[in-house]
Amino acid sequence: MSRIALVTGGSRGIGAAISKTLQDKGYTVAATYAGNDDAAVKFTEETGIKTFKWNVADYEASKAGIEKVEAELGPIEVVVANAGITRDAPFHKMTPDQWNEVIATNLTGVFNTIHPVWPGMRERKFGRIVVISSINGQKGQFAQVNYAATKAGDLGIVKSLAQEGARAGITANAVCPGYIATDMVMAVPEKVRESIIAQIPAGRLGEPEEIARAVAFLVSDDAGFINGSTISANGAQFVV
Ligand code: NDP
Repeated sequence: MSRIALVTGGSRGIGAAISKTLQDKGYTVAATYAGNDDAAVKFTEETGIKTFKWNVADYEASKAGIEKVEAELGPIEVVVANAGITRDAPFHKMTPDQWNEVIATNLTGVFNTIHPVWPGMRERKFGRIVVISSINGQKGQFAQVNYAATKAGDLGIVKSLAQEGARAGITANAVCPGYIATDMVMAVPEKVRESIIAQIPAGRLGEPEEIARAVAFLVSDDAGFINGSTISANGAQFVV
């Protein structure tokens, strides 16, 4: 059986690793992205995975995009809400725009991604939802009031969806990555990155594939009784 999986932000970084890992496991994957066409084209050339462009912060665009994916590939049974951004600043310097952009993408974007597929999952009595949260949603982080708020909010979303979906065969779980070697983390100044690595007991950044394998387990049939959970994958940097 080839299930259809939607991975938002699935053409780069952690999302790309999730898309490829699910493809390797036999899923038919639709990977979405926001605007980096070059990366998306390269990703499709390398993997054969179809990419779809829409802004997860826009409900109507998400709904229309999901309808297009379902028309081309079939009903979406697996959703990985991975797309996310940072707009870091210490709170006294954080602008309303920085706050609003991050809320719109990381929190409202998760609603916009799951809400359109939810009725179909309920009807078919099967669904697997994974939201990519963050270690910084669990512990907070200097200069990330906006980001930490969204990532903590994502945990509230899956805990609530788990309770609403359980009877309909739908699971909703979160993965909280620690610091992973992607563009997002490599954009941090090297000195800051070194100080981050010094705080990780494993002594290194995580690899995107290490997050992807956790996601692959959560969406598998084997994980049917795991619902409303959070898997931390952070090299022991923050132990809940
Ligand atoms: P990247 O910046 O490497 O990739 C982000 C992906 O999300 C891209 O595909 C991007 O599209 C897409 N995206 C961004 N904004 C939107 C939007 N508004 N609509 C649609 N797609 C969008 O991120 P990472 O791989 O590092 O992060 C992935 C997730 O993991 C995020 O939610 C992040 O918060 C979380 N995370 C990352 C950690 C890390 O250490 N890297 C640690 C903890 C959590 P495009 O290519 O077009 O820009």
